[in-house]
Amino acid sequence: MDEFALIRRFFTDELDERVELGIGDDAALLRWPPGARVVITTDTLLAGRHFPEDTPAFSIGWKSLAVSLSDLAAMGAMPQAYVLALTLPAVNAAWLDDFARGLQAVAAVSGGIARVGGDTCAGPLAITITALGSLAADASAMRRDGARPGDAIAVTGSLGDAALALARLQAGLSCPQALRERLDQPVPRIAAGQALRVHAHAAIDVSDGLAGDLMHILEASGVGADIDVERLPASEMFTRLAPASERLRLQVSGGDDYELCVCLPAEALPGDAAGTPLQVIGTISGEPGLRWRDGQGRLLSESLHGFRHF
Ligand code: ADP
Ligand code: MG
Repeated sequence: MDEFALIRRFFTDELDERVELGIGDDAALLRWPPGARVVITTDTLLAGRHFPEDTPAFSIGWKSLAVSLSDLAAMGAMPQAYVLALTLPAVNAAWLDDFARGLQAVAAVSGGIARVGGDTCAGPLAITITALGSLAADASAMRRDGARPGDAIAVTGSLGDAALALARLQAGLSCPQALRERLDQPVPRIAAGQALRVHAHAAIDVSDGLAGDLMHILEASGVGADIDVERLPASEMFTRLAPASERLRLQVSGGDDYELCVCLPAEALPGDAAGTPLQVIGTISGEPGLRWRDGQGRLLSESLHGFRHF
């Protein structure tokens, strides 16, 4: 199968009303909501670095698009279109079928996003997705630099599942399917992002661990934070399977959670985020630095940081 047959077979979708001209020309032509701004993000996923080498193709497709959708969610943007740059070691029809189904599945749980182009070449497996979202002319984006002293800090869903799954896989331990899915198939918090955008002063998606990602908000906003580690939300699976001595490290340094961390006025705090649980974990302070405290407010001594590539 040559490159063009491959694109036709696996990556050409039905028409989407947002797309005036899609896959097959030199570039795509999009219809855009009148007056809306363009929100754009790109991410590369490499085998062995962003997902274990043995990850099923469906999950690789899912996660490749999920990470970009999560970035759009963290800005409060509405997903519209994406392009897919794919480097493949070989053409394997079964693998490509599953990969394309994974892309389709995460697009479906995120309210839909049109694939409008891409690039295909031979080489070690790598996937780069560039996603476009829209933000109404009068809507405020959830940036990293808007947190204010006194803001409540809240996170969606729960933290630590993906890191626990990865730790168990790396240790050769069994990993329940539901836990593995939290690593392989994170659900982008699109609806939560739309709902929180109205009130939030700042937000980030938690991809490299809460410690590192919250620090980005603090530095951009010129503020500090106090976090009550006993309020970090954990799933029932996590509570059951995470060793007590590893809990905190997995929840704040692990990464791959793809939850939203938002800073918003305490009085505007919604009960949940469009149906996703929302848990207050701390407060923004005028005093710089990120302080981890126990339930009694005592400072913890651990030094905690997020994942870094270099
Ligand atoms: P060009 O020579 O202009 O780079 P290509 O031959 O790379 O064009 O691609 C032909 C068409 O197929 C373009 O519309 C491109 O966007 C699309 N395309 C290529 N690879 C992919 C892919 N992996 N997924 C979706 N669309 C793709
Ligand atoms: Mg090309």
